Amino acid sequence: MKIVLLGPPGAGKGTQAKKLWDEFKIPQISTGDILRAAVQQGTQLGKRAQPLMKAGKLVPDDIVIGIVEQRLKQADCSKGFVLDGFPRTIPQAEALEKMLRRLGCKLDRVISLEVPDDVLVERISGRRICPTDGSVYHVLTNPPQRAGYCDKCGTGLIQRDDDKEEKVRERLRVYAAQTEPLKALYRKKGLLSEINGVGSQDGIYVEIRRALAPRNSARA
Ligand code: AMP
Repeated sequence: MKIVLLGPPGAGKGTQAKKLWDEFKIPQISTGDILRAAVQQGTQLGKRAQPLMKAGKLVPDDIVIGIVEQRLKQADCSKGFVLDGFPRTIPQAEALEKMLRRLGCKLDRVISLEVPDDVLVERISGRRICPTDGSVYHVLTNPPQRAGYCDKCGTGLIQRDDDKEEKVRERLRVYAAQTEPLKALYRKKGLLSEINGVGSQDGIYVEIRRALAPRNSARA
């Protein structure tokens, strides 16, 4: 199964991609995670991407297209994948189509998780991360037992630079301007399913499963 998860930052794409992995064992390809790893490792790619990511702006298309092209060629993608955070622009969507054509396959479904901006801002700006083990908390909805410290390893929690409120608002502006237009493109191709991304994670997953069911695959 080859799936694109669309949705603004904080919509829950990563969470749902993990659920799809648990059930179908199709890898999650998150361009955001790949770029963050490159920043942490201090690679050339990371050095180019870091200031843009910090500012909530998009990294240039050619960079992310190259990343995804390399990743899709790896053996674990042969049975399918979940793209999380890619494509984010029309040129990226066009490049994806060409890549898949070269690999002899096509997308099965594009799931767009719909969440109002105010909910997103609350979700993201309350997020805290453990820099040691990557655990994710939320100051309101999933607080650690001792405020500010990781439950598992005791490290002080941090807020990602791009999770600060003004950066979140910028990321949402970028999403509306650059990524929302992809919905019309995929709707026209009969691939788009819009799903309410507010509610329990399990309930949202049930809706995603419904959208992926074969009887829906021909639905516009
Ligand atoms: P994410 O974790 O998906 O929200 O991505 C974090 C940041 O990485 C974004 O704000 C962008 O700066 C960059 N990024 C991730 N995916 C892409 C993409 N497909 N195109 C351009 N920039 C991206």
